[in-house]
Amino acid sequence: PLMFFGTTNLDLCFNVERLPTPGESLMGKLNRNPGGKGANQAVAAARLGLKPLFYTRLGGDEAGQSLLQSLREAGVRAEAITICAGEVSGSALVLVGDDGSNMIVIDPGANLNVMPAMVESAAAFIAPGALVVAEMGLPISALNRLFEMKSEKGFELIFNPAPVRPGLSPAAWRQVDYVTPNQTEAFELTGVEVTDFDSAAVAASKLLHLGPKAALITLGAQGAFYADAAHSFALRAFPVKVVDTTAAGDAFNGAFAASLAQGLPLRDSVRRALAVAALCVTRRGAQASMPLAAEVDEFLKS
Ligand code: ADP
Repeated sequence: PLMFFGTTNLDLCFNVERLPTPGESLMGKLNRNPGGKGANQAVAAARLGLKPLFYTRLGGDEAGQSLLQSLREAGVRAEAITICAGEVSGSALVLVGDDGSNMIVIDPGANLNVMPAMVESAAAFIAPGALVVAEMGLPISALNRLFEMKSEKGFELIFNPAPVRPGLSPAAWRQVDYVTPNQTEAFELTGVEVTDFDSAAVAASKLLHLGPKAALITLGAQGAFYADAAHSFALRAFPVKVVDTTAAGDAFNGAFAASLAQGLPLRDSVRRALAVAALCVTRRGAQASMPLAAEVDEFLKS
């Protein structure tokens, strides 16, 4: 049993020749894509063949309906999702230039209205022994409540601290089993600039002081670094031709969680997450770029 808690957005992606300057109007090509870190992570796990539960909050608008439908179609279990009439769903305006540069504006909408009490009711869906994954786009008060419930509910907890924000309580930090920042987030949390595996080791030991049992730092094209109190290891990223790195971290987190939930050993789970993220960056889009289990097996064999 695997359950994700996180945000859902409708991404309005405009492909433009170049980014506009203030006051300028440009023509672009619009694609409406389902997004949001939590949703991307849940979809990554579903594409790998799991039936993950997802808790998120959607507005009662048209965007909410289409986001819910696309989650279901991807194989995500939606029974814990709340839809709120009178609220707008989260959305993001994304401008992508031909050179790959981007500008993004996010309206979190309903995602910001997740209250601790709602997380508490959603937690009724968590089976004993389940693996729970949370990202940091939800209100911190809701995350504090979720993490607090860990011992009474008896779940394992992966925390993807993205985007980094202050306010998670020391007690909540101590409930975390795996904290999974990228290089930027690791820097924001520890003040250590992560440029290679050696600096990742320094950042990881600082992360462990915050309370988590293990730290798993992703380093883009370099790979990932794991450390707990007893041991550490680094695994290199799979070399691939990069097309679009959108949602690489979400692919990694969704796949790492899915692999642990399927009972793979730790190191194999990290390796599979690297493979899934590598395949993700060879394809355009967020959820559309998440590979199927068979594609990952094939990739790992070759
Ligand atoms: P985020 O997408 O959150 O910024 P990273 O940039 O660290 O996170 O990427 C997450 C994971 O995606 C990496 O650990 C790696 O497995 C994979 N990845 C990202 N960029 C590349 C790349 N250029 N080549 C291969 N794998 C990549």
